[in-house]
Amino acid sequence: MKRFSFPQRLRGFSLGLLLGSTLLTAQAQSPAAPATLLLRPAAVFDGETLHAGWVVVVEGDRIKAVGPAATISAPVGARTLDLPGQTLLPGLIEGHSHLLLHPYNETSWNDQVLQESQALRVARATAHARHTLLAGYTTARDLGSEGAGYADVGVKQAIEQGIIPGPRLLVATRALVATGSYGPKLSVDVDVPQGAQEADGTDGIVRAVREQIGKGADLIKVYADYRWGKGEPSRPTFSQEELTLIVQTARAAGRPVVAHASTPEGMRRATLAGVETIEHGDGGTPEIFKLMKQRGVALCPTVAAGDAISQYQGWKKGQGPMPERLEQKRLSMQAARKSGVIIAIGGDVGVFQHGDNSREAELLVQKYGFSALEVVQGQTSGNARIFHLQDRGRIQPGLLADLVAVAGDPTRQITALRQVKLVLKGGVVYTNDK
Ligand SMILES: [Zn+2]
Repeated sequence: MKRFSFPQRLRGFSLGLLLGSTLLTAQAQSPAAPATLLLRPAAVFDGETLHAGWVVVVEGDRIKAVGPAATISAPVGARTLDLPGQTLLPGLIEGHSHLLLHPYNETSWNDQVLQESQALRVARATAHARHTLLAGYTTARDLGSEGAGYADVGVKQAIEQGIIPGPRLLVATRALVATGSYGPKLSVDVDVPQGAQEADGTDGIVRAVREQIGKGADLIKVYADYRWGKGEPSRPTFSQEELTLIVQTARAAGRPVVAHASTPEGMRRATLAGVETIEHGDGGTPEIFKLMKQRGVALCPTVAAGDAISQYQGWKKGQGPMPERLEQKRLSMQAARKSGVIIAIGGDVGVFQHGDNSREAELLVQKYGFSALEVVQGQTSGNARIFHLQDRGRIQPGLLADLVAVAGDPTRQITALRQVKLVLKGGVVYTNDK
């Protein structure tokens, strides 16, 4: 595993710990003001196009200027960072993470939900947040705490207050499931904590959506289908009326809804209800993708999750036939591509290692026929557009100085995304291997 240099801000924290808690608190609340920087990479990818020989000026937490080196002079007092052989990109946006989960081959999902304390899970999440940021992902849509209540709201606050390093988060909190449809399930005699909040019917649904928003949800996540019993295929859970009510209630509060769905009927109901993205979509058909396209609903295919789970279940990648699940995914992705449905990019990271986020990008290029350019556009300007993040996802004056420099050119060679040399979030340098 690649080792990153420790973020500069954390070095300050260690010092603060040595010098006493007053300094630590002061630093936590007001980290060193970001300086004026002139970044000189080999090329700038602005979110759409690669520009060789461009430079970027960062002032405070914003991008001040971008353009050909000859047209931009360094502001007085600017620190120059030469980034030879590197491409400077907008900070990457992870479309589907669970900071409160860790890989299922370490601990099964059931055991994480039932046997791991909230404190343990939060402590892990702080490490996960750091790994995510240092992998170049300066924003993440975190789609459900999976039994850890509202802990994602606290993790987000800790990042915003500079207590721990991590990406800017959009959090879903508990997520909504129809009663009886989710897990863990032990026996009929024992009610155990569930991985999401159960809600049904008009009153129950309205109350649950409002409760989650009141406690800090930036968006609502709903499970439109799931397997009702062990070993069963997924089937729809919420009715059309229930899904529509979830979207109406959330929308009135300015929150988008995202749906977990992998059956055609679950995807159809979620689309008609007005969700903004459908997560997974493994059983999507040409008709469903056409409907999604018509309604402007994006597909977040999470191909890395299926790839990881298949390996946890014994598939030896590169040997033997592809598991049926992945064969099905390949076919549905062909249909999705053909339909022209908008693609959001997110891997369901947490199922696999946090910090390994670029696995999704690599698989989309290596196994699903996407070009590296399309994927890098998707992870920057594309995800920003789909998630309504107008202040990031591109390198333009006035936008947040969330930037990542990687060795090589990821618009041609997607594996270059792994070669992270520098991460800036709000103008603050988090890694710099020089
Ligand atoms: Zn997920």
